[in-house]
Amino acid sequence: MHSLLLFGSKCVRKTAHFISHSLPASRDYWVVSGRFDSIPYMPICASCLATTELGRCEGKGVVIPYCSACLSSIGRTGVGNLAWILAEILSSMTACAFLAMLPWVSEGAAIGFALAFAVVPWLTGQIWKNYSERLPSRHGKAVFAIAEGLACRNAEWATQLGNRVGANVHSKRLRIGTKLGWASSGVLIALLATPWLFEIFHPYVRIVNLTDDVIVAFADGHKLASVQLTSSENPSAGSLTRIPLGQRRLSARRLDGTIVDQVLADVIAGHSHLFAPGRPQSICFWVERTGLGRARDGLAQREVLAPLASFWSIKSDIDVWFEPASGSSSTHFTGSVVTALRQGACPSAGGANVD
Ligand SMILES: [Zn+2]
Repeated sequence: MHSLLLFGSKCVRKTAHFISHSLPASRDYWVVSGRFDSIPYMPICASCLATTELGRCEGKGVVIPYCSACLSSIGRTGVGNLAWILAEILSSMTACAFLAMLPWVSEGAAIGFALAFAVVPWLTGQIWKNYSERLPSRHGKAVFAIAEGLACRNAEWATQLGNRVGANVHSKRLRIGTKLGWASSGVLIALLATPWLFEIFHPYVRIVNLTDDVIVAFADGHKLASVQLTSSENPSAGSLTRIPLGQRRLSARRLDGTIVDQVLADVIAGHSHLFAPGRPQSICFWVERTGLGRARDGLAQREVLAPLASFWSIKSDIDVWFEPASGSSSTHFTGSVVTALRQGACPSAGGANVD
C-alpha cells in the first residue's frame, strides 16, 4: 500500500513536471521602449535578419518587416492556432451534449467529464505550440506590441531599431502568446451548456406515496428515491427527483421488496411529471389554473388527470404543488395565470368540480 502511494505521488509529480515544462514558458525579450504608431524604414527581417521589402502589420498599425519565409511561418502558426481553438470548441460542445444525454449519469459527473474534454485539447494545443516554436521553420511572430513598447525576440534587430529611433533597449523576461481565451472557451461551454442540457434531458418527476408504508421508487432498475407516506394534500409531499427522457419502466416497492406498482412511463422534455404508485382509486389529481391580479377571471379551471393511471406527463409548468394557488405565498404570480396541481377525492365521489 505504502509503495503504491509512493508510486502514485511520483507519477503525479512527473506529470506536473512534464506539463509545466511543456506549456509556453516565459522567455527573454528585448524591449524597445516608447509608444510606436510606426517605425522607420528597416529592410531587415525582424525574425532572421534577412534583407526584405515585405512586412506585416501588427496591432496599432506598426508594420514589422519580415522575409517571405518568416511570413509564411507566421501564417502557418496562425492557421494552427485557429485549428486548435475550433477543435477545442467542437470537442467541448460534442462532449457536453453527449454527456448530458447519457441517461444514468449524475449532473456533477457530466460537468466534470465535459470539463476534462474541454481542457485536454487546450493542453495538447499548448504543448504542441511550445514544441513547434522551437523548430527552426516555425518561429512565428518575432515582435509583439506591449504597454511598454515593442518586445522583440531578436536582440540584434531590437538594437538596430533602438538606435534608429533613439530609444532605450533592455532585456526582460516575459510570457507572451499564452492564449488564455483558448482555455476559457471550452471551459465556459462545459460549465454553462452542460447543466442547461442536463436539465432538458433529465426533467423532474414528483413521486408521492399515498400507500400505508414507505416505498422505494425505481426507473429501469435504478433507484430514484425513498418516499415517505402522505395522507393529505401537502405542498412538501413526496420526493422531487430527475428522470432521463424517453420511455422508462417505473416501479415502486415496499421496504420488504413487495412490488406496489409497475408502469411504462413516457418522460417528455418540458413536461411536469407525477408518479403516485399504488394510489387509492378514490384519490384523484387535477391541474387547476387560476387567474390572479389583472388576469383574474373568477373561477379556477380544472382538468382532472387520467383517473386510472399512476404516472402522468403534464404538458404545463406546475407553479404550485398540492395547495390552492390563491392560498399559496404566490404574490409574485400577480397578473398571471397560476397553475396548481391539486389532490383530493375523485369527482365521482363528490370531490373536484370539473368546470
Ligand atoms: Zn526572416
